[in-house]
Amino acid sequence: MEKKIPYKIYLEEQEMPRQWYNVRADMKKKPAPILNPGTLEPITFEELSGIFCEELARQELDENTRYFDIPEEIRNFYKMYRPSPLVRAYCLEEKLDTPAHIYYKFEGNNTSGSHKLNSAIAQVYYGKKQGLKGVTTETGAGQWGTALSMACSYFGLDCQVFMVKCSYEQKPFRREVMRTYGAKVTPSPSMETKVGRKMNEEFPGTTGSLGCAISEAVEAALSQEGYRYVLGSVLAQVLLHQSIIGLETKAALDKYGIRPHMIIGCAGGGSNLGGLISPFAGEILRGEADYKLIAVEPASCPSLTRGVYAYDFCDTGKVCPLAKMYTLGSSFIPSANHAGGLRYHGMSSTVSELYAQGLIEARSVEQIEVFKAAETFARIEGILPAPESSHAIKAAIDEAIQCRESGEEKNIVFGLTGTGYFDLTAYQKYNDGEMEDYVPTDEQLRQSICGLPKVEIE
Ligand SMILES: *Cc1c(COP(=O)(O)O)cnc(C)c1O
Repeated sequence: MEKKIPYKIYLEEQEMPRQWYNVRADMKKKPAPILNPGTLEPITFEELSGIFCEELARQELDENTRYFDIPEEIRNFYKMYRPSPLVRAYCLEEKLDTPAHIYYKFEGNNTSGSHKLNSAIAQVYYGKKQGLKGVTTETGAGQWGTALSMACSYFGLDCQVFMVKCSYEQKPFRREVMRTYGAKVTPSPSMETKVGRKMNEEFPGTTGSLGCAISEAVEAALSQEGYRYVLGSVLAQVLLHQSIIGLETKAALDKYGIRPHMIIGCAGGGSNLGGLISPFAGEILRGEADYKLIAVEPASCPSLTRGVYAYDFCDTGKVCPLAKMYTLGSSFIPSANHAGGLRYHGMSSTVSELYAQGLIEARSVEQIEVFKAAETFARIEGILPAPESSHAIKAAIDEAIQCRESGEEKNIVFGLTGTGYFDLTAYQKYNDGEMEDYVPTDEQLRQSICGLPKVEIE
């Protein structure tokens, strides 16, 4: 008997997952180990815990523990904005005249406006427990810095954010949210670190890049007693924390006996996608079920669809561990025309390995069509989506239209990672018809890819 599915499927507070799920535990072939940038050998716990706090270094290196308990302090924080709703997009279905059923997991209902708070609060908690004074990080578009500053103010840790200079100037409101939560926000490249001074000297007037801001943040952490560096995506520990998205989604679907045919997520560094699909990928890996898992990335920064699967640096300054991932090369800088986030050159090594094993498929989309999808969604579903999230919306709409043509009643689930209130400059460009598509040429990609480090490990 089918229950009538409500517009919003809410889980009760006590139904919120008590453990995070580590999909690596169910992978027969594991993601390749991360390497020490100095020795190019697999990094040890001791080395890693110089950069990250100990519990996070442990989580990063643990590929066998299937479930990690979510500490009560973190659960209590989660309860302020979780469980997040799984929404049945009835209105969008009607508008598209599709027999498909569309669901989206909405992670934008907290002040940071995205899923990033799920990991920020966990990372800051472990830092606090270890007795740290503070943490440093980088932020590009600003969501991660905002999430981290919220988490730090909650647990009383100092928060230092290196914000890519062009965002610092273009997104003054994000900057002010971070400062309101007590964070120190520095435009990157800055004159406060060696890496930053070198960049400013070599490229006067540069507006910065994510890779450079990462290097500055790591240097700042290493040069201050009681500080560690934290990162909002890409890492295995971040995917672990973000698995709460997928676990809740699965619990909500199970509650109504809904079996998804496909699960779609946008992919920058791979954390929301990895977290959303983890429990479903686990079922595929254990031979229990089959789903189509789809990663959607911008055509201007196409790491899965046009990158190579190789070891690469995670940052421009080459101070972070190396990861084997689909990458465009750490020197790749997406066009300044590219409006949304998702501009990271690489991809989570777990997502990369799942893609290499054929569990995930990937597609890339151009930004004007992404904003068109965002507009359709905003006008009918009432939420102004983040440009990043709109990549997933675009793919979901495409799939729903295919169902209209084939008459198939498929269940489509996608991750709506956040809201777009701070992205109105991009929306303005779109509304004024001034937005442009940009796709790097093969030659441009070849140049940044040929700079990859030579690593002999397998
Ligand atoms: C950061 C961000 C993303 C992309 O990051 P992933 O690590 O790939 O998930 C997507 N959507 C929003 C709203 C974000 O803030």
